[in-house]
Amino acid sequence: MSKQAYEFNNSNPNATVLRRLDPMVIEKPRAPIHIHTYGGETPFFKGLTEGRLMATKCANGKCDPSGKEGYFHLPPRVYCPDCSEKMEWHDVTDLARRTAKVHTHITVERPGAFNRVPMPCELISVEIEGVATVIMSQLRGAKPEIGMPIQPEFNTTNPTFTILDLSWVPRR
Ligand SMILES: [Zn+2]
Repeated sequence: MSKQAYEFNNSNPNATVLRRLDPMVIEKPRAPIHIHTYGGETPFFKGLTEGRLMATKCANGKCDPSGKEGYFHLPPRVYCPDCSEKMEWHDVTDLARRTAKVHTHITVERPGAFNRVPMPCELISVEIEGVATVIMSQLRGAKPEIGMPIQPEFNTTNPTFTILDLSWVPRR
């Protein structure tokens, strides 16, 4: 007997489906609930939903940074990689609008499973003045070139609460 012959009430997602009679096997749909905390990175992901790019900076005056002194970290680091003190949050949206450019890029034609961005995807590393690190993101609406001036765009209308809420376009 096929499974199909015993299914009933399939419009109800909580319906129990009889799969076999002997031995009797039933199917009860269960949706997993995944609870994930953003912890100390909350200001970054919350910022994206509000159209703000949030970076961190070490506030310890005695810190001896191994990279560029006093520079912002983006992606943000909750704790300083040099002195382990908790970092301060800073809004770098305007800085990014004025100074962001493509550091390097790669075009992705065939993504893996579960990819949710339109293909081909232009993956870019973003260089911003005063930021010690580059952040990987996606460029939309243009072919990337090294050094191309760009500006951030935020998905604030229907946020995914993931890094996909941030993308970049050529600077206008
Ligand atoms: Zn530090």
